Amino acid sequence: MKKWLVSLAMVAALLCPATSQETWKANPKRADAVRVLIATGGHDYDPEFYSAFDDQAINARVDPHPRAYSYDMRKRADVLVIYDTAQTLEPARQKNLREFVESGKGVVVLHHGICTNVNWPWWYEQVVGGRWLFEPVNGKTGSYKHDVDLTIKPAMPHPILKGIGSFRIHDETYKDLWISPKVKVLLTTDNPTSDGPVAWIGPYEKARVVYIQLGHDRNANLNPNWQKLVRNAILWTAGKLN
Ligand SMILES: [Zn+2]
Repeated sequence: MKKWLVSLAMVAALLCPATSQETWKANPKRADAVRVLIATGGHDYDPEFYSAFDDQAINARVDPHPRAYSYDMRKRADVLVIYDTAQTLEPARQKNLREFVESGKGVVVLHHGICTNVNWPWWYEQVVGGRWLFEPVNGKTGSYKHDVDLTIKPAMPHPILKGIGSFRIHDETYKDLWISPKVKVLLTTDNPTSDGPVAWIGPYEKARVVYIQLGHDRNANLNPNWQKLVRNAILWTAGKLN
């Protein structure tokens, strides 16, 4: 059936070639849209990931490695979305990231972004409040499971959870992470393949920091609750959702 559909589409394309005037146009952004930088690299992902940023209130730009964190990001962005996997950043990149966070800008760490800076205690203890364990710590090593059907429940009232109740999602789970006792848990699951907390507010006080563990592939990326969660987290960390 799929093959038949594809060949029909190919015939249609041959009969009706697109004119050079037909170009893709992004949704117009509001003048006060939050400027977002998305750090990517070191881990693959589906293009549907970008659906979360298709919003008039969010003006996002992608910074793949090696450009990610390579310059002073403070003038370019209000919020940094961390969706890369860079276990250790070199000192110049650490400095840029630290200056961004210390200036009070927002940070949203998504899914495998928890694997970034796992050797930088300031980052995982004071900023994000969580760390992927590549090596055993107190007998625990991080593990993951793909294609799990999860029930997610809000753990407390919070502006980020505006319009989000309990929901179901098909996603990857993580287990045996280090999670700081200082985080404020936003969402939990009782699925046994997870630690429980799947979204939280980081302990950092000079800036708003959020970690959202959900978001492995298109199954999660196209879930309206996940999209809303990411958008709300961006707006909240930018100080535009209270
Ligand atoms: Zn994943």
